[in-house]
Amino acid sequence: MWSRGTKELGHGRIYFSNVVVERKRNLFWGRKWRSLDIKMAFGILFFHVLSLFAPVTFTWDAFWMAFFSYLLSGVLGITMCYHRLLAHHSLKLPKWLEYTCAYLGVQAIQRDPIYWVSIHRYHHQYVELEKDPHTPTYGFWFSHMGWLFDSGYIMEKYQERKNVEDLKNQAFYRFIKRTYLWHIFGFGALVYAWGGFPYLVWIMGVRTTWGYHVTFLVNSACHIWGHQPWNTNDLLVAIVTFGEGWHNNHHAFEYSARHGLEWWQIDLCWYLIRFLESIGLATNVKLPTHGSMSSRDTKELGHGRIYFSNVIVKRKRNLFWRRKWRAVDIKMAFGILFFHVLALFAPFTFTWDAFWMAFLGHLLSAVGITMCYHRLLAHRSFKLPKWLEYTCAYFGVLAIQRDPIYWVSIHRYHHQYVESEKDPHTPTYGFWFSHMGWLFDSGFIMEKYQERNNVEDLKSQAFYRFIKRTYLWHIFGFGVLLYAWGGFPYLVWIMGVKVTWGFHVTFLVNSACHIWGNRVWNTDDLSTNNWWVAMITFGEGWHNNHHAFEYSARHGLEWWQIDLCWYVICFLESIGLATNVKVPTQDHKSKKSLARTIKSNVPHKIITPKG
Ligand SMILES: [Zn+2]
Ligand SMILES: [Zn+2]
Ligand SMILES: [Zn+2]
Ligand SMILES: [Zn+2]
Repeated sequence: MWSRGTKELGHGRIYFSNVVVERKRNLFWGRKWRSLDIKMAFGILFFHVLSLFAPVTFTWDAFWMAFFSYLLSGVLGITMCYHRLLAHHSLKLPKWLEYTCAYLGVQAIQRDPIYWVSIHRYHHQYVELEKDPHTPTYGFWFSHMGWLFDSGYIMEKYQERKNVEDLKNQAFYRFIKRTYLWHIFGFGALVYAWGGFPYLVWIMGVRTTWGYHVTFLVNSACHIWGHQPWNTNDLLVAIVTFGEGWHNNHHAFEYSARHGLEWWQIDLCWYLIRFLESIGLATNVKLPTHGSMSSRDTKELGHGRIYFSNVIVKRKRNLFWRRKWRAVDIKMAFGILFFHVLALFAPFTFTWDAFWMAFLGHLLSAVGITMCYHRLLAHRSFKLPKWLEYTCAYFGVLAIQRDPIYWVSIHRYHHQYVESEKDPHTPTYGFWFSHMGWLFDSGFIMEKYQERNNVEDLKSQAFYRFIKRTYLWHIFGFGVLLYAWGGFPYLVWIMGVKVTWGFHVTFLVNSACHIWGNRVWNTDDLSTNNWWVAMITFGEGWHNNHHAFEYSARHGLEWWQIDLCWYVICFLESIGLATNVKVPTQDHKSKKSLARTIKSNVPHKIITPKG
C-alpha cells in the first residue's frame, strides 16, 4: 500500500512547508469549464483589473473611503458575522444587528451568506479530505482561489448542500441569495454616483480585491505555513484578517468567538465582540473551556507557558535564590560573568582591526564547536584525519565552552534523555534554565550523571585526556598571547565579545531550538527548526532535523535551509579530507515525516515526504 501510494504521488511539496501536494487538479487547461466557472473567473478578474487603475486614480479621499469600507465589510461583515456568528454560532446578536452586519458582508462581494457558510462548514467537516472545498493538498493555488471557479469540483461533492438549514429558514437570507447580484450592481452604481471613477476603482476594485486575498489566505496560507502542520497559526495573516490567522486555534475550538487565544495573539474581531458584549449587544459568547485547552497541551500545567510557544514549564528549578551553590557553580558563574563584563568594554576599545580579528576568531570557533565538537566528536557524522580533527578540536577549546570530553558527554546525554528529567538543559525547566542556568547548577548535572561514561571513545585518546587535565592553562595562555599581541582591544574583542557571542549562539540551540520554530519530523521531543538561529549558528538551528537524524552531517535538509557547516564538510569531502559522511536515507525520512504521521489517522490517505 505504501509503495503503491508513492508511485501515485510526486507532485512535490509546497515550498517552506511540509505540505505535500498529493492530488492534482488542473487550474486552467485540460479541464471542463462550465458557464458558471467562466462567469466566476471573469467576475474575479474584473475586480482585479479595476484595481489596476488605482495608481492613476489615487486621491486620499478615495483611499480612506476604501479603507473605511474595508473595515465595515471585512471585520463586521465577513469576519464577525459570516464567519464567527453565522458559520459557527460563536456569539449571538440582536436580529437587526445580525442582518445589518450580514448586509455589510454581502458588500464584500464574497457571495451570499447561505453559500459562504455552507462551503465553510464543509471545510471544517471534511478538512484536508477529498471533500474539503479548498485543501492545500491540491496545491497552493487551488486552495487559494482555484476552487472558486471549479464548480464541477464543488457540485459533484455537495449536491444537496443542506448543512445550512438555519439560514435557509430565514426569509432575509433567502431574499439575499435570490437577489444577490442586484445588491452588488446597486452598490457599484451608488459608489459611482457618489465619487465617480476613483471611488469605483478604490472601493469596488482595490478594497474588494484586497478583501478577496486576505480571506483566501486563511484558506491557503493558514493551512500551509505557520505553527503546526496542516492548519496553522500565522501571525502575518492574523494581522491582515482581524485575527482570522490564528487558524490552528480556530480548528481546535471551532465554537470559540475568540481566535487569538494568547494575550499576544492580536485578534481585532475579538476585541470588537468583547466591546459589543460589554454594552449588552453580543450575548452567548463562547470560549474554550480551560479543560479543553489544557487537555491539548499537557496534563500537568503549573508554571505557565513560555511566551510565543506551546512549551509548558512543568518543573521549576531556582536559578539564583534558595538553591545550593557549590564552589564549582560559583566559579562557573563568575567565569561566564567575566566574559560578559569584558565584552562591555567593546564600544570604548573598538578598532576595525580588533573587530575583524574577533570575526575571524568566531569563524574558527565555529569550525571548532559546530563542525568538530558537535558533528564530528559527539555524533560521528563524518571522519577527518587525526591531525585535522585535533586541530579543529583545539579551535573548539579556545571558544571556551569547556573541553571536548565534557562537552560531548553533556550533549550525548541531551540526545539520550531529551526533555526528560535527565536532559541537562530541557526548556521544561523554563527558558533561562535551558539557556544558561544549567551551567552553574552542578547539583543538577552531577546527581544525574555520576559516572559520565558515555564518552569512552574520547577518553581513550591521550590528546583529549591531556586537554581535559590542562584545560584552564590553554585559556590563560591564549589570553596572555592576545594581550601581548594586540593589547586590551584584542582582549576585549576576542576574549570578551567573541566568546560571549559564541556562548549565546550555542545556548540558543539548546533553548530557542526547543521552544520556537517549526517541527517537520516526528521526534519525541520539543526540538524545532528555527531559521534565525540557523543563520547565526552556521546551520545548527535546523535542530528538529538534527534530532530526527542525529547521525547526519547535514542539518539543513532542504535546499533553502542554509547550513554553512555542511558546505564546509562538503568541501572537505571533495578534496578528500572528510570521509564517511553520513546523511539520512529516503527510507528513514519517510518513517520520520510528521506530515505522514498526522495524515495516517485520516482514512484513504497516504503521504510521503519529498527529498
Ligand atoms: Zn471557521
Ligand atoms: Zn481551515
Ligand atoms: Zn546534537
Ligand atoms: Zn536539542
